[in-house]
Amino acid sequence: MINSQQIVDKFGRIHDYLRISLTERCNLRCFYCMPEEGIQLRDKKEFMSSEELLEIAKVFVELGVKKIRLTGGEPLVKKGFDELILELSKLPVELVMTSNAVRIDQHIDALKKAGVKKINVSLDSLIEERFNDISKRNYFKKIMENIGLLIENHFDVKINVVLIKDVNDDEIVDFIKWSITEKIQVRFIEFMPFEGNNWDVDQRVSLKEILDVISGHFGSENIEKLDAAANDTTKNYKIKNAIGSFGIISSVTNPFCSTCNRIRLTADGKIKNCLFSQSETDLLTAHRNGDSIKELIIESIDNKYKERGGITDFNNESVKEINNRSMISIGG
Ligand code: SAM
Repeated sequence: MINSQQIVDKFGRIHDYLRISLTERCNLRCFYCMPEEGIQLRDKKEFMSSEELLEIAKVFVELGVKKIRLTGGEPLVKKGFDELILELSKLPVELVMTSNAVRIDQHIDALKKAGVKKINVSLDSLIEERFNDISKRNYFKKIMENIGLLIENHFDVKINVVLIKDVNDDEIVDFIKWSITEKIQVRFIEFMPFEGNNWDVDQRVSLKEILDVISGHFGSENIEKLDAAANDTTKNYKIKNAIGSFGIISSVTNPFCSTCNRIRLTADGKIKNCLFSQSETDLLTAHRNGDSIKELIIESIDNKYKERGGITDFNNESVKEINNRSMISIGG
């Protein structure tokens, strides 16, 4: 029997993983994430305060959420991050984070104290000049140092690489080499269409293309397929005898919706029941009005489409009709 304190959709998928965007602000400007013109600055009052975020997170925990990922924008630019994470760590959940790592050194003590063990770091190039071009800032060295710091401090580190044709797809082998010598998991993420990111279907790099490059270089007999964890979005592999591993996430071409357990809470307190969802449910206003938000959460998930927010075709024309936010304001 399904526990009434669980969030379950029409397809029987139990939703126990919440991704919270702490802020829409970011200290990088990656072109595929942040629209060129930036995003509209809004009054602070439109966003959840740390107290509100905690209160709302507690409701999700009462509804069976077992894992919370902090994301953004850049979560580490949220004012009062250390205090917030220490409060969140009192909830009975696994707490993880996705970050660009620019400020990891300033927050590593709080992260350790909060019991965070797994951190995903975004890094799209191992070439300093190229990385700084993609992110339109000059933090490459700092990020590499901070990745080293995380590894030294025994964090489980995944490196998120958004692979884009003719931008960084010539670095697949170099990233894999890194996973051979360092205890990291490199994850190649398919470039996805969002508001203002000039997505082009021809810039995607498919799972097969990635595996072809890797087997061409390392030999297919040296690629080991690893088991996927439950609800895993990643197809996991490693090179024989490597210290680390690699994964491929192709959300558009090979969606993993059948095991989806994710709910996204934006920094302005809205839930999206899918990354590609074109509708949102406003929890923050209801919460501020003193209304119960449990029913809103359950209803939102009940309305979830079977696959990819109900979008069946992703091509250059059809994506122009999609009414979604930019990734920076959804929170990956
Ligand atoms: N600032 C943090 C960071 O850099 O990891 C967290 C937020 S960021 C929006 C979360 C993830 O979304 C990153 O790994 C980023 O590379 C990924 N992302 C952003 N835009 C994307 C896109 N258009 N396609 C695929 N992944 C994207």
